[in-house]
Amino acid sequence: MNHPTEETIFVIAHCLLNPLARVKGIRKPDPIDTKNKKIIQLPCPELIYAGPERGKKAKEEYDTLDYRRLCLELFFPYAEMIETFSNEGYEILITGIPKSPSCGVFTTSVFENQVAEGKGIFFEEIEKELIRRQIPFKMTE
Ligand code: SF4
Repeated sequence: MNHPTEETIFVIAHCLLNPLARVKGIRKPDPIDTKNKKIIQLPCPELIYAGPERGKKAKEEYDTLDYRRLCLELFFPYAEMIETFSNEGYEILITGIPKSPSCGVFTTSVFENQVAEGKGIFFEEIEKELIRRQIPFKMTE
């Protein structure tokens, strides 16, 4: 985890606060300390796209035009909020989930149950949109 300042907005993957969104049967993420933090909870794109009974999938299976479009549409109003806070001088720290095909930052899951370096699909779209808007941000998982 980076060392945030008091002026940080924490933008976090949905299941960090709501583990019910995760694929059933997989390990719950470690709880995060929310005390005195300013938090924006992102939506869970897999839950919206594939429902609560979905199985575990690899990044390649989510790498479709439809899913990328949904991810960008879901993120759009959040990008607006983040841009507003960034313009007000807040640092933006975005926290994803290790090995997630959607929300991984340093690691994601690919075919044959392998872990690979790189971002999940949702976080790739988030990164592209924030770069397009020239918003400074950091990402961690
Ligand atoms: S898609 Fe992201 S928010 Fe949803 S369960 Fe997976 S890691 Fe969590």
